[in-house]
Amino acid sequence: MDLTGHQDGTHMKDDTAEAASQDEEIIVAVPKRKMSRSNTRSRRSQWKTSAPTLVTCANPACGQKHLPHTACPSCGEYGPRGDRRQVTEA
Ligand SMILES: [Zn+2]
Repeated sequence: MDLTGHQDGTHMKDDTAEAASQDEEIIVAVPKRKMSRSNTRSRRSQWKTSAPTLVTCANPACGQKHLPHTACPSCGEYGPRGDRRQVTEA
């Protein structure tokens, strides 16, 4: 009976002595230390940035893109088209 075909592969996990006796030794990378809970959770979290939403300035003379709900950095006006007002020095 030849059982060598059953011994290699998934059946051997921690039998390093038997693995060394075989012709081909399977070498796998094993982490040296346990990964901390903090590192695991940090890796699993999604550290992604996203581009901010920009709106076009209501000032037709300006027309720049700026952040919503903020004064336009280029012309200094804030508000919808109806009641635009100068809030900062342009
Ligand atoms: Zn503007």
